[in-house]
Amino acid sequence: MNIPMVDLKGQYLALKDEIDTALIDGLSATQFILGPNVQAFEKEAAEYLGVEHAVGVASGTDALHLALVAAGIGAGDEVITTPFTFIATAEAISYVGAIPVFVDIDPYTFNFDLNLLEQAISAKTRAVIPVHLFGQPVDMNALKTLCDDKGLIIVEDCAQSFGAHIDNKQTGSFGDFGAFSFFPSKNLGCFGDGGLITSNDEKGANELRVLRNHGSRERYHHNVIGYNSRLDELQAIILRIKLKHIDEYNQNRRRVALRYSNALADTSIQTAYEDGIGVHIYHQYTLLHDERDSIMKALQDNNVACAVYYPIPLHKQDVYLETYRDSQLPVSESVASKCFSLPVYPELEDDKVDAITDIIKGAL
Ligand SMILES: *Cc1c(COP(=O)(O)O)cnc(C)c1O
Repeated sequence: MNIPMVDLKGQYLALKDEIDTALIDGLSATQFILGPNVQAFEKEAAEYLGVEHAVGVASGTDALHLALVAAGIGAGDEVITTPFTFIATAEAISYVGAIPVFVDIDPYTFNFDLNLLEQAISAKTRAVIPVHLFGQPVDMNALKTLCDDKGLIIVEDCAQSFGAHIDNKQTGSFGDFGAFSFFPSKNLGCFGDGGLITSNDEKGANELRVLRNHGSRERYHHNVIGYNSRLDELQAIILRIKLKHIDEYNQNRRRVALRYSNALADTSIQTAYEDGIGVHIYHQYTLLHDERDSIMKALQDNNVACAVYYPIPLHKQDVYLETYRDSQLPVSESVASKCFSLPVYPELEDDKVDAITDIIKGAL
């Protein structure tokens, strides 16, 4: 048995003929930057996500960064987010000169605790970045009520939540902006880097189109300092094909996850928890146990991949130590010391899931 965290090869082979043909057509067309497939993908993604505008950019990190620039967040502003996420969430805040303010997480959903959010708001707070971590939507209706009340901008970090939704409303359609990543291992992944920003605000979307293309509205006319951050045409070709399968991919991720949860329900493990507010699409299947290391060793000894997302909360990262030396976020720190994630990908067969849970039960 040899089970990886994700099986990118399996997903490619299932669509190989269609992808190869489309890529060869794209090579012949030679419109490599901001070509017709980028435009078509933006339209199709906006339709799927239920938003007015979608702007392709070079990565999920850039999507967060440019959304903050378009929102006018800058030096001295505070942006509230979770400490239990990939570093890119906070990096984007730091890029614009703002200060990330970390709110501790809920011990079950691993998303930031909305009950703690209000006390983190200061006179300098301008925006909030909810992260739909591991594919479980943050309670966006509750968050939006709070942010509207306080006049705060919302930029959703949807890097792990393409297709996750609340009452048929997609993550990325609640906030002022939504930032998506198409890094190969994400639920909707391309064959390199890629990202997307969603918005219902036409002015904001137009500004993003200018920002991603060197601040240029008209060729060789520049009225703002922009960036080189465009979604690649070849990646857009792949994404258009995979977008048609995203619901089926996410349903299969849920099949795997629920099978794990069932099999491990009566053990000492805290299995992945669904709060029922939205539909969790399991970018990761993450569980908690005090003896994490010995369970992971048993999995590794049997050639089953596993990983810790994330071992160090952001307020404990060297890069933020100076600002957060005295900050204690006990739930994040406790979860980081006990969490581990199991392989989850649409192609993972039930018998392999059962073999994995048998190994875990044997290790307990
Ligand atoms: C992957 C990820 C990002 C960054 O996306 P890239 O496309 O790799 O730049 C941002 N936030 C979260 C939560 C992520 O998982």
